[in-house]
Amino acid sequence: MINLTLHDIIQHFARSELLDDSTILAADNDIKSSELIISGVSTDTRTIQPGDVFIALVGPNFNGHAFISEARQKGAVAAIVSEPTQTFIPEIIVSDTKLALGELGAFVKQQVNPKTIAITGSCGKTTVKEMVTAILQECGSVLSTNGNYNNDIGVPLTLLRIEEHHEFAVIEMGANHLGEIAYTTKLTQPDVATIVNADAAHLEGFGSLFGVARAKSEIFKGLGPQGTAILNYDSQFHDFWRGKLANEFIYSFSLNEAPGGNADYTAESVGLAYNGCAHFIMHTPIGEMNIELTLPGLHNVGNALLAAALSINVGASLEHVRDGLAKMQNVAGRLHVKQISEQVRLIDDTYNAAVGSVKAAIELLSQYEGKRVLVLGDMAELGDKARYYHEEIGTLAKDKGIEYLFTLGVLSQSASQVFGANGAHFSAIDALNDTLYNTLYNTPENITILVKGSRSARMERVVKALEESP
Ligand code: ATP
Ligand code: MG
Repeated sequence: MINLTLHDIIQHFARSELLDDSTILAADNDIKSSELIISGVSTDTRTIQPGDVFIALVGPNFNGHAFISEARQKGAVAAIVSEPTQTFIPEIIVSDTKLALGELGAFVKQQVNPKTIAITGSCGKTTVKEMVTAILQECGSVLSTNGNYNNDIGVPLTLLRIEEHHEFAVIEMGANHLGEIAYTTKLTQPDVATIVNADAAHLEGFGSLFGVARAKSEIFKGLGPQGTAILNYDSQFHDFWRGKLANEFIYSFSLNEAPGGNADYTAESVGLAYNGCAHFIMHTPIGEMNIELTLPGLHNVGNALLAAALSINVGASLEHVRDGLAKMQNVAGRLHVKQISEQVRLIDDTYNAAVGSVKAAIELLSQYEGKRVLVLGDMAELGDKARYYHEEIGTLAKDKGIEYLFTLGVLSQSASQVFGANGAHFSAIDALNDTLYNTLYNTPENITILVKGSRSARMERVVKALEESP
């Protein structure tokens, strides 16, 4: 966080279009308090630090105004509120505290103005963000989104963490409703923006796959005329997204196009090592480079091409790309390949499941020798398309030659049904674990088990049982 006084904040709000109908005043009229330098901004009294200003957000299940006394006791020096509370710390009264949070984040970003990259998509945002962060750390000081702080509260909180020494900011943007990314990208004003892909995820919030693609395209609204967009050439929405751009610079990446073809960032001579990680020759507008990935799966070649495009467009070299990618660490619960016994390999992808990420994981599973087992929990938030997509996954697993498909949960039953023989559905986790255990110990060959499902399916329970089984 940069040095800010309450006075700066009040001045900034007064200039804001979004907050122009607010009554902005320090409830404490003592002018000295407005010269106070705040050390940070907090919306949560569980993590507030002395010297912070507390923003009282109002949500469907909570009202931050009820926590202002607690914030004060824990050292908050001021509060931003939408109703006066008389808790004896200076208060700035605004019409909407969530917008005030956004405006503050945008203000801090503009003050420091690091080269900024914005990333959205259905799956792979965090992975690409981590790749770009690793690459840019080879060039300078980087601020990037922590974990999944990617919504209309998480993005402003991330922007507020920018400090004077940051040369780059890498911002993940997610959405569960239309307009959310338009808002977060306008606050962020990125130099380079991308959509990793658009796939069936959060369909309930967007109505259709096209609705998802349209919502993601909002990210380009934050780009200035000198901005750069990186497009996924392989996506069915490539042309649609290109049509949303006017004067911006446009580059594309592709897993399918040959070097010198239609896309700017491509891969040649892709091979998979025993651990599932790819090596390839990366082709870019600034030259070629041999790349070795530390994350498994072919989809990570696409992620790496995209991460390279994003980073090169803010000044990284091919050596930075190679060295940064080589240092990438596996992210917990995302395609984590573990050898749990001499015979049994486990792919833990229990963090979450959207249709695209299940397909990517099945692709990886199909690369392994020996028997392959897919253990699938429900993919959530697919609305009335749920049955269709679960059947699609069952059919894909069959077509890819996967030997067993075990499902758990109401929706995924349709996947094991279309899979046919060696497909089994379970309504209780213990029965699933028992069958899995019996399958393992009655199979003489090597066996690879992929465990995946949406967060709500909590498929890590299967991973735990497997790891603890004798
Ligand atoms: P969230 O919406 O939860 O923030 P995310 O978009 O940040 O998700 P990650 O956390 O990077 O995505 O990855 C989620 C899942 O998607 C993992 O299972 C990962 O293996 C898979 N995945 C990553 N990149 C891709 C890709 N390009 N295509 C398909 N699946 C991918
Ligand atoms: Mg994420």
